[in-house]
Amino acid sequence: MTNEDPITEARARLQAERAEVLQDLEQLTSRLETKGDYELGEGDPMIYQWEFNLALRERAQQKLAEIDEALAQLNMGIYGLCERCGKPIEPERLAVLSHTTVCSQCAQRRR
Ligand SMILES: [Zn+2]
Repeated sequence: MTNEDPITEARARLQAERAEVLQDLEQLTSRLETKGDYELGEGDPMIYQWEFNLALRERAQQKLAEIDEALAQLNMGIYGLCERCGKPIEPERLAVLSHTTVCSQCAQRRR
């Protein structure tokens, strides 16, 4: 563990995650350019793979939006605060779920 302040660490982690997602997106987009041969019909595994990649890309785009939101919160100085109770979110929780917006207590209460 480093002694860096949590905000600097969170920003570095989010930016690393963001770079990863962008790389995934790029890869998926280039894979989506090669479409399966629809003349072979629905059973073509290429088509199945293509649709799977499309779903993956949608998920990656959503994750990117969440990361951007977390980064915006960081810049506004409200990152890591629970949106329910306003208390700081546990660092251990943020380490696993870097773009969560509620503390573990409020997350439990929500269920
Ligand atoms: Zn809370």
